[in-house]
Amino acid sequence: MVTSIEGAPGRKGRSAVGDADLQLQWARIRGRLKEEFGEAAFRSWLKAMTLADASGDRIKIAVPNRFHRDWVVSHYADRILTLWHNANPAIKSVEVVIGTPAQPREAELAAPVPAEAAAAEETALEVGAALDPRFTFENFVTGKPNELAYAASKRVAECACAPKNTVPFNPLFLYGGVGLGKTHLMHAIAWEIRKACPKRKVIYLSAEKFMFQFIRALRFKDTMAFKEQFRSVDVLMIDDVQFISGKDSTQEEFFHTFNALVDQNRQIVISADKSPSDLEGLEERMRSRLGWGLVADIHPTTYELRLGILQAKAERSGVEIGPKVLEFLAHKITSNVRELEGALNRLVAHAQLVGRSVTIETAQEVLHDLLRANDRRVTIEEIQKRVAEHYNIRLGDMHSARRARAVARPRQVAMYLAKQLTPRSLPEIGRKFGGRDHTTVMHAVRKIEELKAQDRTLAEDLELLRRMLET
Ligand code: ADP
Ligand code: MG
Repeated sequence: MVTSIEGAPGRKGRSAVGDADLQLQWARIRGRLKEEFGEAAFRSWLKAMTLADASGDRIKIAVPNRFHRDWVVSHYADRILTLWHNANPAIKSVEVVIGTPAQPREAELAAPVPAEAAAAEETALEVGAALDPRFTFENFVTGKPNELAYAASKRVAECACAPKNTVPFNPLFLYGGVGLGKTHLMHAIAWEIRKACPKRKVIYLSAEKFMFQFIRALRFKDTMAFKEQFRSVDVLMIDDVQFISGKDSTQEEFFHTFNALVDQNRQIVISADKSPSDLEGLEERMRSRLGWGLVADIHPTTYELRLGILQAKAERSGVEIGPKVLEFLAHKITSNVRELEGALNRLVAHAQLVGRSVTIETAQEVLHDLLRANDRRVTIEEIQKRVAEHYNIRLGDMHSARRARAVARPRQVAMYLAKQLTPRSLPEIGRKFGGRDHTTVMHAVRKIEELKAQDRTLAEDLELLRRMLET
């Protein structure tokens, strides 16, 4: 829904927000953001921001939902703070909160949608999603962990633009943990095609949006049009399909759309946080169909890749950040690229604010929360993933009720390692293994300890896994 921008949250009469100077500054900042990040990103993420509150040195900005907030915080908050500070040196912090602009909520539920609202909704719901101007192939740093995914994505873009548009692998299935560049690569494919052969129709959208549109089409009895949109595309990209799993009717529709496009030799690109075989709540036929093309895994970053990314981004930021500081960050922030970027942005913002170059000490100070979070590294999910890979079983079997030795033993190994390597309690561990009881976990830990003493191979496996997980 298109929300009214100015004013609404301020109507409770908070004097500061009503302040004409502040409003003027805010309008200018919005203008700058639009210039810097481009029309598309502005429309998707920044336009809906409202000035919610201002008191002392603090500005509060409201956005419509959590997803929106997380995105704005990780992608734009630092820049917003810098712009605020430049506009008004008294401002020292910017907080992004979730807030619905004060509008009658009934409008959302009323059965006959008022003409005006329906029109507004229409424009807000074009099929695809806006592309982030920074997510291009040029801006993507490659290394061992992502080279296959990168090469495959480039290939898809090239083939889509070939005179007789060919489909190298269908679908291209990109998977990997959060913040490792899946969305970036998909946008890059779309940008590339837009640049090289703008006649091709490309749709990029999140699985959530796909679902949302489908459900909406059902509600407005307009599924034909819904289907048509998708069936006339050259390249369809759906991001984060793990969100589709479970929703039966959407899955069904997705499956049909998918098949229709594949039959017409149209390219499909899918991303998910797990491989097709590990996606839960997906019908078997869908699962197998998703794995038909090329499945490209984006692995967790290595030190070299992290450093490369930091160097590229630091250079682009225009602020001087010494090599030692970048090395320090590459060592310390190992979770994912998004956090790495967040850390760098924060340092850049800090350097701009204080007008001094950044040292390791300042980095430690400015980033203490991030650094601390990255210290406790091993998670139960990683353990499960590694152990499943090691024993060549499905990740899903970590949660399943299957008792066959071939899966039960690796599961026990994973529970044992979870106990050894994480601070989680037995009940917490049990929950992560398909809701098992803490006594089951205790039993597993004892069992593995016992076996380890007798079984050399197992002892070596455990040592190997531990080392892989801890570095
Ligand atoms: P995912 O979709 O896998 O969760 P994103 O594609 O949103 O991750 O990436 C998170 C952030 O990290 C984005 O800002 C993206 O530009 C950046 N990023 C990820 N991988 C790379 C890379 N190899 N080179 C440059 N930036 C990257
Ligand atoms: Mg993503």
